[in-house]
Amino acid sequence: MSNIVTRFPPSPTGYLHVGGARTALFNWLYARHMNGRFVLRIEDTDIKRSTQASVDAIFEALEWLGIDWDEGPFFQTKRFDVYQTYVQKLLDSGNAYYCTCSQEKIDTMRKEAMAGGGKPKYDGTCRYKGLAKTANAVIRFKAPATGTTIVKDIIKGNVVFQNSEQDDFIICRSDGTPTYNFVVVVDDITMGINTVIRGDDHLNNTPRQIMLYNALESSLPAFGHVPMVLGKDRTRLSKRHGAMSVTAYRDMGYLPDALINYLVRLGWSYGDQEFFSRDELIEKFTLENIGKSPGIFDQEKLLALNADHIKAAPPEKLSTHLLPFLSERGCLAEKGDFINSVIKTLNTRSKTLIDMAEGALFYFQEEVLYEEKAAKKFLTPASLEVLNQLIDQLKPLESFNENSLENAFKRVMETNGLKLGIIAQPVRVALTGKTVSPGIFEIIKALGKKRVISRLQNAVQLIKNRKD
Ligand code: GLU
Repeated sequence: MSNIVTRFPPSPTGYLHVGGARTALFNWLYARHMNGRFVLRIEDTDIKRSTQASVDAIFEALEWLGIDWDEGPFFQTKRFDVYQTYVQKLLDSGNAYYCTCSQEKIDTMRKEAMAGGGKPKYDGTCRYKGLAKTANAVIRFKAPATGTTIVKDIIKGNVVFQNSEQDDFIICRSDGTPTYNFVVVVDDITMGINTVIRGDDHLNNTPRQIMLYNALESSLPAFGHVPMVLGKDRTRLSKRHGAMSVTAYRDMGYLPDALINYLVRLGWSYGDQEFFSRDELIEKFTLENIGKSPGIFDQEKLLALNADHIKAAPPEKLSTHLLPFLSERGCLAEKGDFINSVIKTLNTRSKTLIDMAEGALFYFQEEVLYEEKAAKKFLTPASLEVLNQLIDQLKPLESFNENSLENAFKRVMETNGLKLGIIAQPVRVALTGKTVSPGIFEIIKALGKKRVISRLQNAVQLIKNRKD
């Protein structure tokens, strides 16, 4: 095991969206690639916006994606005593101080700073007053006022921030609750996080966080700020660009491996390879290959990749994902040889599991549901003889394979002087109820002898009943 420790710290203020999932994946893959550890932390200090439903939704999405964690989940709301200890450390070392400036005073201060062309900053009024704790006092961090703070970013290179741009920011509110940048640093220090990969929307927080690390005399983690995911119109990805939540893709019939593959490729590359299995991603993922330009989320490409993953997945694995879609459609299929054979007839023709489930329904029906037009056109007295002959040919066959089926059909064709295309259509309708389906021999093999004979006999009966 290496000493690499990464983390994913979602704020539970909504579902897990695809951008967040990509960040989780980068951290997870890096930990797995390096044989390190991956920590899950729930950043729920924004009590007004955090909900248990969001926490559950995030777990559900991570579980579906197959992203597992080695430590956690830790909840920030359960760690206030740890934060308290660290606030005290900063007070004791003279890196933090109590401030009693009123809100009005701060508002005026900010207005004046902005009027003078500067940034809205706290001017340090209480910095050297040595105030003691009082009911309305906040605790501010004594930030270095001059010099620069450099973020040595794995992806962006060195990013230089002027310390004069920062102010003595609050680390603890008057009600005793710690603030965001502070708790992130305390958590990352105490959880041993040494690699922080996150969206570049957080880059502006990093100089403040680095100042806190320095004040706490802790070594810095390696930082990598990943460019955002954009929509096709190059604006930040939002609902306008289609479904955003991970579980929406599950419900639309995507495979987790396909979504993972697609999201990782949005911002990471390995030559021009597009298709990766999960194991291959773990084997090949390194931070050096994260790109500097934003990834463009393109649903059509994701759909094409999903089709490729459906094609490549072993039927046993696909069946696990397919079963819920079948049961939603009232079909009580179960794992085993039959569903595996069914899947083999559909996996090159399905872009999503919904396509596959729709295409698979006829296999599982007790009685074939004929499309009216199809039955009218093909289950006619003219087909009766062909269907009967086929039953006679198929009945004695020991096994259904390409060869035995071909011979059986050949004999019926020769007897009637008909081409396969002509014979195949009534048979197809008899077996599937439809005029479009996978290849006729494929269906027959997958359905198996018992079902095929019974369906052909039912079709014969239907024609006879109509005739009478
Ligand atoms: N909780 C933050 C978010 O959901 C992540 C902060 C971080 O990665 O440091 O965006």
